[in-house]
Amino acid sequence: MMRTHYCGQLNETLADQEVTLCGWVHRRRDHGGVIFLDIRDREGLAQVVFDPDREETFALADRVRSEYVVKVRGKVRPRPAGAVNPNMASGAIEVLGYELEVLNQAETPPFPLDEYSDVGEETRLRFRFIDLRRPEMAAKLKLRSRITSSIRRYLDDNGFLDVETPILTRATPEGARDYLVPSRTHPGSFFALPQSPQLFKQLLMVAGFDRYYQIAKCFRDEDLRADRQPEFTQIDIETSFLEEQDIMGLTEGMIRGLFKEVLDVDLADFPHMTFEEAMRRYGSDKPDLRNPLELVDVADQLTEVDFKVFSGPASDPKGRVAALRVPGGASLARKQIDDYTRYVGIYGAKGLAYIKVNERAKGVEGLQSPIVKFIPEDNLNVILDRVGAVDGDIVFFGADKAKIVSEALGALRIKLGHDMDLLTCEWAPLWVVDFPMFEENDDGSLSALHHPFTAPKCSPDELKANPQGALSRAYDMVLNGTELGGGSIRIHRKDMQQAVFDILGISAEEQQEKFGFLLDALKYGAPPHGGLAFGLDRLVMLMIGASSIREVIAFPKTQSAADVMTQAPGAVDAKALRELNIRLREQPKVE
Ligand code: ASP
Repeated sequence: MMRTHYCGQLNETLADQEVTLCGWVHRRRDHGGVIFLDIRDREGLAQVVFDPDREETFALADRVRSEYVVKVRGKVRPRPAGAVNPNMASGAIEVLGYELEVLNQAETPPFPLDEYSDVGEETRLRFRFIDLRRPEMAAKLKLRSRITSSIRRYLDDNGFLDVETPILTRATPEGARDYLVPSRTHPGSFFALPQSPQLFKQLLMVAGFDRYYQIAKCFRDEDLRADRQPEFTQIDIETSFLEEQDIMGLTEGMIRGLFKEVLDVDLADFPHMTFEEAMRRYGSDKPDLRNPLELVDVADQLTEVDFKVFSGPASDPKGRVAALRVPGGASLARKQIDDYTRYVGIYGAKGLAYIKVNERAKGVEGLQSPIVKFIPEDNLNVILDRVGAVDGDIVFFGADKAKIVSEALGALRIKLGHDMDLLTCEWAPLWVVDFPMFEENDDGSLSALHHPFTAPKCSPDELKANPQGALSRAYDMVLNGTELGGGSIRIHRKDMQQAVFDILGISAEEQQEKFGFLLDALKYGAPPHGGLAFGLDRLVMLMIGASSIREVIAFPKTQSAADVMTQAPGAVDAKALRELNIRLREQPKVE
């Protein structure tokens, strides 16, 4: 081994000892006849001093430049009083350099690593191998490694087996587009990269493995949002003979242990909330419970009013009219309210009605609002009492199709919580349960809300009689408004699986063609089973407080799903295409 210690591990206890360090020249300073090199490795920095006594070494130290790779032998000594650097792990000591060897030279890096400021992300990604040298980036990946190691330990201790599942496979329907890989040996046929290991982990339960986990790469060809990547990592879990309470308990223990171990945070027991309650009170199936604002339904007070914007949705069974009280919001300026109106427009809301409560004791006179004139005073009072309005508040209203109102006011709630600094605590985890089995598409057809292998809470006959009313045995773990993980008890009987496929409009032939292997497995002794998957990248992001998912992935893709460093995806040559039986369509010429 070349080195005796990592730079960041040097401290006072090593005083007077000789050490050998290997690393990169982070910074070089010339101080009146003495040369200081800060040497960096993955554990941190160490200051090495070269004085002119050792002529040759000194001359070499004078010639090295930023990012040269060097090996240094020297003696640890306390820094002179006044030169101690409390911001540096090894800041109480320095190394007096005896020998210096340049292991490799470096050109001037494309951006400086010490005074790192406004380097564009494109440049950082193109030179990711340099970007990752920055101590703050290294710290993120090290934390990610501690997180996976804690999780593995917990799952190993609880009897889970780590089993790998294929990457070249058939489509698993998780609701996204597949990445396809052409087969050379089966001309015209394609593999799909897994959107998740869902069916394989279920088959492992049928095979009797009882408890499985995998830190698994998943691939989904979706339009990218800020917190999405085309390939991402799941902590994938499946168990047999456990009920949803057991699975939630086990995985909650895993997350609580993780937060204690890595962040020294004690999370309280996670409350359970039904999907219905989450949508009603927070307009979201992943409510951020740090935020005290709540939606309150008021349609019953508005069915008769002479104001179509309210009375229409209030009388429509698929409509919703809800109010959102914001304490202290009466001070919002016209311009701010206009901005919030535009903001809810993103979610399809056609406007944002409001009432400012200046002085309730004065009745209608004490309210400031473009809409109070349409609402009888009795109804107005019921509404204001119901939301708990007091002087100084503003009450916003949403009235439209239920989906639009929930999404728009749900998003407004989050935005106001941040803008007005309303969050009440640092971490607010919960479980959301009792999801509907299906959601209705615009054309009236049904899709599985989780995925089609999720068990309903009823019999196949009840399910067929009223699919829209059926609840599933699914559960999501939510933290601070982010879905950390989700899963379900699965269907383990063939007739139930076929009933769900039927409701989804999958014909008998298609069921056989796409899922024949699953239907086979279900008829050869499938145990009751269930599990879930956590999004590792998002978990790490939350624990680190990173603003972008790309900050916690070593080599992420850009927003357009490309890798600017390796230039992937790239063209392939004609021969490779011929072997794959693929002919490219002519690309439209760009003029
Ligand atoms: N396969 C599911 C997903 O990727 C998770 C699960 O049901 O276990 O969302």
